[in-house]
Amino acid sequence: MINVLFAARSERWDTYEAPLKTAFAALGLAVDLRQDFAPQDVDYIVYAPNSPLQDFRPYTRCKAVLNLWAGVEKIVGNETLTQPLCRMVDPGLTQSMVEWVAGHVLRYHLDIDRSIAQQDQWAPFVPPLAEERAVAILGLGALGQACAKTLCQLGFKVSGWARSAKDIPAVHCHHGPDGLRDVLSTAEIVVLLLPDTPDTLNILNAESLSYLPTGARIINPGRGPLIDDGALLAALDSGQIAQATLDVFRVEPLPLDHPYWAHPQVTVTPHIAAETRPITAARVIAENISRGEAGAAFLHQVDRARGY
Ligand code: NAP
Repeated sequence: MINVLFAARSERWDTYEAPLKTAFAALGLAVDLRQDFAPQDVDYIVYAPNSPLQDFRPYTRCKAVLNLWAGVEKIVGNETLTQPLCRMVDPGLTQSMVEWVAGHVLRYHLDIDRSIAQQDQWAPFVPPLAEERAVAILGLGALGQACAKTLCQLGFKVSGWARSAKDIPAVHCHHGPDGLRDVLSTAEIVVLLLPDTPDTLNILNAESLSYLPTGARIINPGRGPLIDDGALLAALDSGQIAQATLDVFRVEPLPLDHPYWAHPQVTVTPHIAAETRPITAARVIAENISRGEAGAAFLHQVDRARGY
């Protein structure tokens, strides 16, 4: 019997218990799944970083911690965690991010706000075609690449930026610190899909925002600390940045007195771009436990030194 501890907020148990049991059965895994075990008896931990479990030292037999979230910034620096840590790459979450990003890119591309504002007037205007619109995606991992693919299919001129060099069909790829200025210099719409690490902190700051063409738009479903908030507000007020849609923030929920709430050029969404979907995520967790039992390499293992 494989003992799997579900260490997430207890309200999540109702959502995940049945999908996890179904996924374990589908792979023929004999699993005892519970919210409580003696720590020394646990083989795997299904984990959400906001769980009360923060000290992993008593889990001496645990072979891996399987994160329910894509982002790992709240757990990656936990020094009590010495087991492999796997982040969530879930087809349902990815599809949700693709839909959210495509929707918000199309809003800016088609100037849907203008149509809404001119609801009482017959005032025709012609937006450019997607092939005339440059969209840059910062972060070309699981989510950035999926969004790039869909935006390419819609016809956008897509470029991207990552830490390492990439070769993605139809995407003009840049990498490394030197590539940031190049990728931003032509971008009319920028989508942030980077992880929160010391290297990506305030990656959009006064200097990098100035690389963008005047009137660019920012869409951030990545993480709040990617943006220097003061610099973005100043760039919005000066007209350097026309609009921003922000799903993630340094402090969540976004405090009621934060200037983003009332800013006419900012759209705040409450960290809803891409939720982990229990049925598809459970299959990924089961696959990783199956791999662990077979002595195979885990999928989506976090590189602790890189922080993602
Ligand atoms: P991922 O597969 O790990 O991809 C991360 C990408 O960022 C990679 O392309 C990586 O480059 C690049 N990167 C990392 N550090 C960099 C640096 N210093 N300079 C340039 N590029 C850098 O992550 P993912 O699954 O796509 O997820 C991305 C982020 O989305 C997550 O970390 C999370 O914060 C956020 N997210 C948000 C929501 C939401 O609802 N708002 C939901 C899920 C995830 P390499 O390819 O060269 O390694």
